[in-house]
Amino acid sequence: MCGIVGYIGKKDAYPIVLNGLKRLEYRGYDSAGIALYDGKEIQLCKTQGKVSELEAKAEKNIPLRGNLGIGHTRWATHGVPNDVNSHPHYSNSGDLVIIHNGIIENYSSIKKELQNRGYTFTSDTDTEVLVNLIEEVKKQEDVKLGKAVQIALNQVVGAYAIAVFDRNKPDEIVVAKLGSPLAIGIGDDEFFVASDATPFIEFTNNAIYLEDEEMAIVRLGREVRVRKIKNDKLVENPYVQELQLNLEQIEKGGYEHFMLKEIYEQPKVIHDTYRGRLLADQGIIRLGGLEDYIKKFVNADRIIIVACGTSWHAGLVAEYIFEDMARIPVEVEYASEFRYRNPIITENDVVIAISQSGETADTLAAIKLAKEKGAFVYGVCNVVGSTISRETHSGTYTHAGPEIGVASTKAFTTQITVLTMMALRIAKSKGTISQSDYIKHLRELDMIPDSVEEALQGDEKIVEIAKVFKSAANFLYLGRGYNFPVALEGALKLKEISYIHAEGYPAAEMKHGPIALIDEQMPVVVIATNSNHYDKVVSNIEEIKARKGKIIAVVTEGDTTVRDLADYIIEVPLTPEALSPLINTIPLQLLSYHIAVMLEKNVDQPRNLAKSVTVE
Ligand code: GLU
Repeated sequence: MCGIVGYIGKKDAYPIVLNGLKRLEYRGYDSAGIALYDGKEIQLCKTQGKVSELEAKAEKNIPLRGNLGIGHTRWATHGVPNDVNSHPHYSNSGDLVIIHNGIIENYSSIKKELQNRGYTFTSDTDTEVLVNLIEEVKKQEDVKLGKAVQIALNQVVGAYAIAVFDRNKPDEIVVAKLGSPLAIGIGDDEFFVASDATPFIEFTNNAIYLEDEEMAIVRLGREVRVRKIKNDKLVENPYVQELQLNLEQIEKGGYEHFMLKEIYEQPKVIHDTYRGRLLADQGIIRLGGLEDYIKKFVNADRIIIVACGTSWHAGLVAEYIFEDMARIPVEVEYASEFRYRNPIITENDVVIAISQSGETADTLAAIKLAKEKGAFVYGVCNVVGSTISRETHSGTYTHAGPEIGVASTKAFTTQITVLTMMALRIAKSKGTISQSDYIKHLRELDMIPDSVEEALQGDEKIVEIAKVFKSAANFLYLGRGYNFPVALEGALKLKEISYIHAEGYPAAEMKHGPIALIDEQMPVVVIATNSNHYDKVVSNIEEIKARKGKIIAVVTEGDTTVRDLADYIIEVPLTPEALSPLINTIPLQLLSYHIAVMLEKNVDQPRNLAKSVTVE
């Protein structure tokens, strides 16, 4: 959460930093700030609110001069979102300026100590404590900024990606990372620092991603020096990654919102996810990260899936498919709860960690615990080079491309695509799937992009349904089997972006409680596509109808039974039940999107949320 960006070079820093902040705004957006330095004067401007508000304020209030600049978009953890708590923060002398993503857990004791030494604080943030700790170390030890940062960071507990500069060093930015991501873009005679590569993609394709507990001194006119924070060891030849991103991927491309663009990208990105990995005609699934470790999965006593939010729902879908096809018991855990439960994990367990950003702090903590207990850990992430992809023993990327809308859409379907391929591949090795079933699912998976394309064509009808229900106070989403997690995901999507209360339930559970909520005001979205439980779902629909609930049903093309019962139907193409979440989720994404737009909500940046949740 939170985006940090910095520039040092020969160009004007302001437009680069501001534009970078706009690209990072999805990561956190309750406040924003910028500091520019021209070697003489530091110009600092910050405000509660969006980057556009910062832009207006900065352009009115400060000279936009300087070849060094840092900027921040905040997702508050310590102190309410207001102007004062926004970053950047000065140290007491006014010499040091910092931006910070993360949490300093022991800030309170450090703050007391610094107060005893005469320091004063204007904000409630942990970040202002850190910059003053650096200042105090610098003074006490009589060291330069880089060394002071290092000593100070060895005294703090928590997570951080920081960028800090010193008024006395106009050609240098010091950066450091633990837990939160930090990339350094290397240009000709210029450097960029940012939470991800999107702010500098048009300037350079070369980036160093700092590892945890690494810091770097980024100084003009010399190579970036990366050091270990703990022992000061120089990292020889830090790996310079060649970036695959292009500008088009991070722009809206004519769509009104990133979320809509990402929903519509799904046929393409699902295809990208299996391209070269699924050879349906030859009956082959080849996932690089899996092949070397296939025995681990085949011999596993159990698979434990750890994830949060939408990724957790993808994990729930995977539970069905792994158990169904590969006959391996699966447990799906909220990463945040997993580690606090003293879980029983053995060396015969395989842990799959799912995270779009690959930075989710709760999931990372669960991975660390699983590794300590000797489990083999496999990552399913979207962001290449992310922390989770590095912390796991092996894994598969989803190749969904950058997902900028905070409400996850294409990340979900591509995660399911990867997990489905994994389950089929493992089932084949275990011999738990018949050859004909295996081939059938490969072929059908190969047709999913077309079916998703077809499902997207239901959009106009969904707009009409959204118009009818946009003012509902509550929604219920029901599904069975593979589509129970789809119901959960549909409800989450609606909550996240329209702020309408919604609950997902297994359809059969309705009678054990939620049925009490049903009256003529209550829209109930039922996933009633072809499946082994179709008749049972139809009975649930009858139960809702008997209580005058409003039924919006997602059905397979040509369905006549539900058509007669439901108030509204949304048709999707036929596919095997195990693959149906990939299709059935599409209309639910569109429904949430249109309702949120009609309610004039900020679809891409819903309140209180942030994209990449790097705090526990
Ligand atoms: N803990 C810091 C604050 O509350 C940084 C939060 C962030 O990552 O945006 O200001």
